[in-house]
Amino acid sequence: MTLAPSSRRADAVTLGDMGDVFTLGATDGAARAGTLHTAHGDVPTPAFMPVGTKATVKSVDPVELRALGTPILLGNSYHLHFRPGEDVVAELGGLHAFMGWEGPILTDSGGFQVFSLRDTLLQVDDDGATFRSVYDGRAERFTPELAARIQERLGSDVAMCLDICQPAGVPRAELDEAVRRTTLWARRQRDLPRAPGQLRFAITQGGLDDELRQRSSEELVLLDFDGYAIGGLSVGEERAPMFDAAAHAAAFLPADKPRYFMGIGDPEGVIEVIARGIDMFDCVLPTRTARTGSALSWEGRLNLRNARFARDPRPLDEGCRCPACARFTRAYVRHLVNQEEILGLRLLSLHNLCFVIDLVAAARQAIERGTFESWRAGALERLAVPRVGTP
Ligand SMILES: [Zn+2]
Repeated sequence: MTLAPSSRRADAVTLGDMGDVFTLGATDGAARAGTLHTAHGDVPTPAFMPVGTKATVKSVDPVELRALGTPILLGNSYHLHFRPGEDVVAELGGLHAFMGWEGPILTDSGGFQVFSLRDTLLQVDDDGATFRSVYDGRAERFTPELAARIQERLGSDVAMCLDICQPAGVPRAELDEAVRRTTLWARRQRDLPRAPGQLRFAITQGGLDDELRQRSSEELVLLDFDGYAIGGLSVGEERAPMFDAAAHAAAFLPADKPRYFMGIGDPEGVIEVIARGIDMFDCVLPTRTARTGSALSWEGRLNLRNARFARDPRPLDEGCRCPACARFTRAYVRHLVNQEEILGLRLLSLHNLCFVIDLVAAARQAIERGTFESWRAGALERLAVPRVGTP
């Protein structure tokens, strides 16, 4: 860590006196509680965004998502571009109408899929990236112009810039090139047509390299986006340096704009990025964990396939308000999981989403009360995970 300009900037910013996009309500250390204002409603932050890659949060009805208190959903440009296609979605009224969700939606640009499916990548140049589609193997090309058009047609509330996300451990020269092209592409995408009221966030890159991360952040901040994501982390690196990099990256982002950490959703990770000044995050973890037959809980992760749950009359988590915990026992959910009954996966998905949403709501409350540090220590202790890195 060389410097922390955000803490200085935060001092200079009057709480509640922000731009139209984001209102900062309270800070506690680096942690922030605020509100993101979108065309489909306000999002209290910090906010966890369940992932609805293919216009569905796997197995969960939007009515159920609303009942859980889901503040905002994530959709994916890459997948929706290929199936069913953004023009089909637009013809049917846009992504909100298409999937029956009236709340805010953020769409990723497709950059993560293009660059994380590395064996499908054919060519990258300053204009864009060519790759083989995972759907039919055909050569396809993504450019900032296409990323803007897809998201404009989908009509999401927050559109992301096309970026180049590198996996952990690539040579510095590759990270450097990714930063250069990510800025180049953000500059092109910034002024392209957007859906009514659509916000546009840029994505900083640079991996764990402090100097590159600073350069990426500073270049993008100069372009003045509605918000900034921290990309290229949670891609296979160790956790302590990842959290340090998140803090370092956040320090170069303006205090009056929302900050989005891409790809974290485990209870510990959520707490740790909130502690470092992050406002939004997304991850498939709650629903993917559910599909492996596991429940998030204050006792840690419960593998329901384990025989010790065969006669367990307790809910998945004592004190959880989700539909699964309100009505069903661990023994019953275990039976459903072992019999590969769809209801088992659905109940676990609802529970895991509820667990993370409520965890984030509790963090927000602690920030507002000025008790975040003690809440964090208590929560990590309950989850039985040691604190890692420096906040
Ligand atoms: Zn529950």
